[in-house]
Amino acid sequence: MDNSIIYNITELRNRIPQYVTLVTVSKTYSPEIIMKAYWAGQRIFGENKVQEMIEKQSFLPNDIEWHLIGHLQSNKIKYIAPFVSLIHSVDSLKLLISIDKEAKKNHRIIDCLLQFYIGEELTKFGMNIAEAEVLINSNEYKTLKNIRITGVMGMATFTDNHQQIRSEFQRLQVIFQHLKSKYFTCTSCFKEISMGMSDDYLIAIEEGATIIRIGSAIFGKRS
Ligand SMILES: *Cc1c(COP(=O)(O)O)cnc(C)c1O
Repeated sequence: MDNSIIYNITELRNRIPQYVTLVTVSKTYSPEIIMKAYWAGQRIFGENKVQEMIEKQSFLPNDIEWHLIGHLQSNKIKYIAPFVSLIHSVDSLKLLISIDKEAKKNHRIIDCLLQFYIGEELTKFGMNIAEAEVLINSNEYKTLKNIRITGVMGMATFTDNHQQIRSEFQRLQVIFQHLKSKYFTCTSCFKEISMGMSDDYLIAIEEGATIIRIGSAIFGKRS
C-alpha cells in the first residue's frame, strides 16, 4: 500500500498548531483515495463542486464533515443542505437567503463563511467589505434563522511573491477584525478565518488562519 498520504497528513499535523482546522481538499480524488486520508484520521473534507460532493458523500462514511469551498449556485443548494457542515463561499445576500430556505426545509442551521476578494485575479469570487456591510445591515439578513455566519474566507493570488500573499492574508485578517468588532460581538460565534492552501498555508497560519484548505500537499498533484 502507498503510505504517502498518511505520511503527508502526519507531517502536516506536526507543522500546524492544534487550534487550526485542517480541511482535506478531496476534489478530483476518488473515494478510495479519500479513504486513505480517512484512515489517517481526517474527518473534514472539502469539495468545490456540488455534484462531486453529493456523489462522494453517498459512498463514504457518515462521520465525515463536508465543507463546500467552491462557488455555489442557488439552484444546487438543495442537494447539499441535508448534510453540508460549512459553506466557505457565500458571496451574496441572495445566496444566503437561498441557503437559509433550504436549511429550514431540513430543520437545520447551516454555518457559512463570507468569501472575500483579497487577491488580484479578476476571476476570483468574493465580496468586498462594503458589499458585506450592506448584506449584514439588510433587513432580510436579520430575518434569517437557519444560517449562521461564523467567519470569513479568502484566496490569495496564485504567485511566488510571498510578500504579496502575506499582505493579502493580512487584508482578510483586517476585514475579519472589523466585522467582528462592529457586528459579531459574541466571541464564540464569529471566529473562523479560512485561508491558506498547499503552497501558502504556513504564511496563512502566521497571519491568523483558523482553517486551512489543503489538497495537493496531502494527495499529490492533481492530474
Ligand atoms: C483546490 C482548492 C484548495 C486546495 O488547493 P491545493 O493547492 O491543492 O491545496 C483550497 N481552496 C479552494 C477554494 C480550492 O478550490
